Amino acid sequence: MVRTHIPGFPRIGAQRELKFAQEAFWRGELDEANLREVGAQLRTRHWRTQRAAGLDFVCAGDFAWYDPMLSTSALLGALPERFGFDARTLSLVQYYALARGNAAQPAMEMTKWFDTNYHYLVPEIGPQTRFEGGVEWLLEEVDEAHALGHEVKPVLIGPLTWLWLAKSRVAGFDRLALLPGLVARYARVLEALKARGVEWVQLDEPALCCDLDAAWHEALTTAYDQLGHSGVKLLLGTYFGSAAQHAPRVAKLPVQGVHIDLVRAPEQLDVWRAALRDDQVLSAGVIDGRNVWRADLAAIADTLRETHAQFGERLWIAPSCSLAHVPVSLEGERRLDAQVKSWLAFATEKLTEVRTLALALADRVAAQPQLEAASAALAARARSSAVINALVQKRTAAVDAAMARRANAFDVREHAQRDALRLPLMPTTTIGSFPQTQAIREARAAHRRGELSALDYLERMREETARAVRCQEALGLDVLVHGEAERNDMVEYFAELLWGFAVTENGWVQSYGSRCVKPPLIYGDVYRAEPMTVDAIRHAQSLTTRPMKGMLTGPVTLLQWSFVRDDQPRAVTALQLALAVRDEVCDLEKAGIGIVQIDEPAFREGLPLRRAEHEAYFDWAVRAFRVASSGVADATQIHTHMCYSEFNDILPAIAALDADVITIETSRSAMELLDAFGEFAYPNAIGPGVYDIHSPRVPGVDEMVRLIERACETIPAARLWVNPDCGLKTRAWPETEAALRNMVSAARVLRERMAASAREAGATVAA
Ligand code: GLN
Ligand code: ZN
Repeated sequence: MVRTHIPGFPRIGAQRELKFAQEAFWRGELDEANLREVGAQLRTRHWRTQRAAGLDFVCAGDFAWYDPMLSTSALLGALPERFGFDARTLSLVQYYALARGNAAQPAMEMTKWFDTNYHYLVPEIGPQTRFEGGVEWLLEEVDEAHALGHEVKPVLIGPLTWLWLAKSRVAGFDRLALLPGLVARYARVLEALKARGVEWVQLDEPALCCDLDAAWHEALTTAYDQLGHSGVKLLLGTYFGSAAQHAPRVAKLPVQGVHIDLVRAPEQLDVWRAALRDDQVLSAGVIDGRNVWRADLAAIADTLRETHAQFGERLWIAPSCSLAHVPVSLEGERRLDAQVKSWLAFATEKLTEVRTLALALADRVAAQPQLEAASAALAARARSSAVINALVQKRTAAVDAAMARRANAFDVREHAQRDALRLPLMPTTTIGSFPQTQAIREARAAHRRGELSALDYLERMREETARAVRCQEALGLDVLVHGEAERNDMVEYFAELLWGFAVTENGWVQSYGSRCVKPPLIYGDVYRAEPMTVDAIRHAQSLTTRPMKGMLTGPVTLLQWSFVRDDQPRAVTALQLALAVRDEVCDLEKAGIGIVQIDEPAFREGLPLRRAEHEAYFDWAVRAFRVASSGVADATQIHTHMCYSEFNDILPAIAALDADVITIETSRSAMELLDAFGEFAYPNAIGPGVYDIHSPRVPGVDEMVRLIERACETIPAARLWVNPDCGLKTRAWPETEAALRNMVSAARVLRERMAASAREAGATVAA
């Protein structure tokens, strides 16, 4: 019979137990022994779940006290030298210092794991990096699983991927120079696992699904030629795309198996079937590890039939990738619409799907009831009136080029907006949110519990808006915002108001460390039944004579931060979202709002891993934004906002959005980013963040003046805005007011300076 396994299980726990334990430990309320106990309980529970589902292996090594990349670095002994820690005796306090920084050192850099929303800690390497061994938590966890009587398959991030994701500050340093030492250390780890009686080890190499050059292809051979002799069987794990180009090479390596992602890249199956040796295992990743829909088990079983005939017991069945990217279990969903719930499979339910497929291949008749149940759920979903909205489909199909284009070009709109808005040079504004105070959160919780009526809640939020408006007026900001008090989350807020979306109670997914997100589900055609923000923004505008900026989340970000339906292309869903946002933008305009910001912080996140696919992504993502933003008159000013990523390489796409103003996070490398915008000759207006909202530090007026002056060197002052680099919801009021006061002063200093030099220039001409 075919074997079943998973590349990884969510570590945080169904009730986010790990998060709460970590945070209690950081606050000093939980000691190390108790934290370790919580970790052990979670592992025990997750292994039992895997065993109960009938999997042939349980997975170890998918647990981490903060992040598996960091844990791998600690295991290898490759920690940033600047902390001065000995990896072999690393304590949890030190481990967390690496992840979160301490009094002496800033945290290790964190960035997104491939094209997921998970963030890992970037290994810091250099010519001095040695791999002298480190903490043996992985080995202890394997012992723990063995002691509980499990057959365990440890999983580790592989050497190529670890090195490929590592960064060196030494210019020109060739990371591959570290390969021999790195591989030698991996070999020691594998030997230690072998000594513990482990049969199979999964080494994850998602880097193989990215664009790698020839040197890295060679490195694959070098590394695995050596690792293949450690005595354990190696399962080379690939996911998030096709690794087909490596198939001929893998067939020559001393690895006993390969795992491939057949959800993202089903077309690679034939290549691997043809390439693999007859002693190599093929682990078919056929259950979607990145999404929450029930699989069409009968159809998958059909596509695997020939492969099964060819591989027999050498065919394994698995999810496409680690299940850490989906919530733990549907069990915690009591309020979710029963119909929608019947279409879903979270991590725990996916284990059963994997198992059912194995059964179906061995004994189709025995599996028939489960296959039929899955098919019935899918058929119901396909027919459901909750999914299909003919109106939306018709409208989406009818979107034409004109709807994705403003009536006039930026230079024409610019004049119309100048006349309409009458803003000073270098206008000051903020990104949208003001501090989400304890009081706001409590009011929301009380409203949720039914203790605060809808009307009272609305009233409370209006008070918050009034406070934000008063504050902004007193500070002298030029373009105001209502402050977003009513928004728990910039995506979930809209998900609750739009048709075609569902929100979960406990659908948590780890974003990084102790931070979890609860992505909404898009299950049907997206439809905006009525205005979502117009009342709140109109009310805010009624409190002031200054322009009030309407605040919306853009279609690409709504898509990117949700679980997206898998029964139509992402591009179509994006367009439906775009139409919903477009209607909102137009309604705001009708309500007299002259400036609307459409946030797209996740715009870059959707970028495919392979460069060859970038253009196709930009085509539909840019179009979605343009459809959302192009329904308004010239005089209505469209802003967008982006953050959390590097933008230098996507400037043409950002320009193609044709927003009148983009406010953008620059805090980490303001100069570099501005140079890039300058060099590219970004055509529209831009508000580079002049201070970092991620820190409570209040920057001085001079500091911001210097930054704006520097910006003026690359961007004409007439197209420059002055703003913080992101929303202020995580900050407290005192530092917010202090920083904004300085920011407004800085803009005034510069305006006066410019006026003075203009007068001087005028005087010279006159003379
Ligand atoms: N308007 C949002 C806010 O200010 C933008 C958030 C974001 O960029 N992530 O909170
Ligand atoms: Zn932001």
